[in-house]
Amino acid sequence: MNFKEYLFELGLSANQHIIVHSSFKKIINSFHFITPNEVISELKNIVSKSGSLIFPTFTYCFKKVSGDYEIFDRLKSKSKVGLLSETFRLSDGVIRTSSPTHSFALWGNVTKFLDENNSPESPLGAGSVLEWLTHQQNSFVLMLGTDFSSLSYGHYLEVAAKVPWFDYSPWDYMNVLPIGVSTKGEQQLEEIPGCAKSFVNFESYLLKENLIHRYGYEGLTSYFISVKLLFDEGMKFFSSHYEKLLCEKNTCLACDSRRRKFL
Ligand SMILES: [Zn+2]
Repeated sequence: MNFKEYLFELGLSANQHIIVHSSFKKIINSFHFITPNEVISELKNIVSKSGSLIFPTFTYCFKKVSGDYEIFDRLKSKSKVGLLSETFRLSDGVIRTSSPTHSFALWGNVTKFLDENNSPESPLGAGSVLEWLTHQQNSFVLMLGTDFSSLSYGHYLEVAAKVPWFDYSPWDYMNVLPIGVSTKGEQQLEEIPGCAKSFVNFESYLLKENLIHRYGYEGLTSYFISVKLLFDEGMKFFSSHYEKLLCEKNTCLACDSRRRKFL
């Protein structure tokens, strides 16, 4: 099986709107000699311009109390969430949104609806790229070699389901202020995304209930999940089992701060 066949096997086809989370290391372990540019081209060829490809290109450019922080430059700042996301960002026809902390790279149909000025006060909530995906009929999350600890959509669910800490920043201990900083200036932020490690508990739940399927091939495990399913099941799980969305006690300072205040 080649990489293109693997994508078809997962269920990718033309006209879908897809957000991609990926580990290039895992992909190249199974598909030897494939290059980052080839991965991106295969995805674009399958989805076509009437569909959409979206990669997070987060840079986490928050203002810090210490005064020592990085300033986001929409065109120059490299993505901090993986080689493929940076390769995609620099590829033909892609635009990048303006959020100093949680920008996205967009290609295809989505660029008719969202442009480079997109930078909501709630970076992964109302007005975000994730909200746009929620309102599309034919939208999916593709995870290539990653698990739910990289599921950005989980942060959208935290806000939508209003988990107790949805507007409480857990990054005080890192001296992070709820302000994004870019070359255009500062932006006050609402609803700062926290720690995502325990989204794997949502993953285990969906697997156990047979609601999602993991596709394995030569050590590469992937998911292709409809956003509608994630939203419907997520709203239930995040409303009733929110305590499972924090790391184990005393293992994570960010989650501990939320636990102390809300549980
Ligand atoms: Zn945590």
